[in-house]
Amino acid sequence: MDTIQCSRCKKDAPKLDKAPFRNAIGERVHEQICQDCWSDWLEHQTLLINHYGLDPRDPKARQFLYSQVETVLLKGESGEEVDTSQQGSIEF
Ligand SMILES: [Zn+2]
Repeated sequence: MDTIQCSRCKKDAPKLDKAPFRNAIGERVHEQICQDCWSDWLEHQTLLINHYGLDPRDPKARQFLYSQVETVLLKGESGEEVDTSQQGSIEF
C-alpha cells in the first residue's frame, strides 16, 4: 500500500485508494491526506451536512463542502463553525 506523509497529522500513513473527488481538491486530498484524517473529515462533513441541511447533489452544497475540505483539511484552519443556533440559515 502506498504511504504519504500526511499534511494534517504529519505521520507517514496509508494514502487513500483513489481521489475522493474528480477535481483538483480531490487530487490534493489524495496526495496529502491519510486515510485516518480522511475518516475524521467524513465525520465532520456529516455534521456539516446535517447541520446546514445540505443536499450533496446540489452543486452549491458541493462547492461549500469542497471549500471546507480545502480550508479545514488541507490548510488546517478552523473553517465554518458548527453553531447549532444558526441551523438552516447558511447563505451561499
Ligand atoms: Zn493524517
